[in-house]
Amino acid sequence: MVEEVYRNIYRIGVVLPGNPLRKLNSYFIRGEQSDLLIDTGFRRPACQEALEAGLQELGSDPARRDVLITHLHSDHSGMADLFAGPDRRIYMSDVDMGILKRFQLQKDPQVLHQRFIDEGFPLDLLKEIHRTNPAITEKMPEADPRLYAINDGDKIQAGSYTLETLLVPGHTPGNTMFYIRKEQIMFTGDHILFDITPNITHWRGLSDSLGDYLDQLRRVRDLPVKLALPGHRKPGNYRERIDSLLEHHKKRLSNALTIVQDNPGMTAYEIAGIMRWKIRAADWSSFPVIQKWFAVGECLSHLDYLKERGYVKYEIVDGVKKYYSTKMYPIADISGILR
Ligand SMILES: [Zn+2]
Repeated sequence: MVEEVYRNIYRIGVVLPGNPLRKLNSYFIRGEQSDLLIDTGFRRPACQEALEAGLQELGSDPARRDVLITHLHSDHSGMADLFAGPDRRIYMSDVDMGILKRFQLQKDPQVLHQRFIDEGFPLDLLKEIHRTNPAITEKMPEADPRLYAINDGDKIQAGSYTLETLLVPGHTPGNTMFYIRKEQIMFTGDHILFDITPNITHWRGLSDSLGDYLDQLRRVRDLPVKLALPGHRKPGNYRERIDSLLEHHKKRLSNALTIVQDNPGMTAYEIAGIMRWKIRAADWSSFPVIQKWFAVGECLSHLDYLKERGYVKYEIVDGVKKYYSTKMYPIADISGILR
């Protein structure tokens, strides 16, 4: 279960039962004075047992353990407080820490999910998601005094390695990667995954999270990376993967725009029901509720991108947004979107 991926850097596979991501990759860097654990898993017994077993196999002493969180999603941050030493730090980007704290204060599902309500997502389904979504039910319980805010460019020492913080908003507004420049190693978190596509959704307060994400893919593309260590699944070729992710979103944008212009006046909930998804479900009505929520979020990030650049617009009819293309676009025109 524990694998040494580089000198003094280990990967611990933390099971995520029932989740299509299957496992979280938690990384452990052994140092002289202290150790660093990167990402933890959902706050639930199966994850805790897996991570504890891995750390025990490595002979890790909890008292000398710092924890580093790549982003606020609870499959990464959920157990940070349980695994950091009592006098150690929990590093997390300033931006994601702010969201985590605001989320803890704001409990009203109506407020939290307003955007989805505006986009035609049925309220009863949203309430069900709020009760069962592990992002909500299995996260860190409250702000922890060991939380330590980091920003773009900040350096963290872990053993003989210096990790450089790269703030790469998109997957979350304060999403981070960590770069060991000297060894050309990148901890990609969920910014770059190799055999699945990172989920890019709408975030409250951000107008264009997909645009941010694509900008950040391009910003880090040319860094020399010989070992890319992702948050889930297997490593792969860093630059090739960035290129294929850019291409993937170009196709998704084209798919979304085509649907909007062929079906004027649909809600995002309805548009998501027509977009193509890699999921084993007969049709939109038989999607598991949580997968519908991910699909609509992903659809929204693409609609926001198209709206920001003037390709689509919406009108509010009976309290929900209905989308239209701003003119009839020939498919060839769409190829220019990502430039
Ligand atoms: Zn994530």
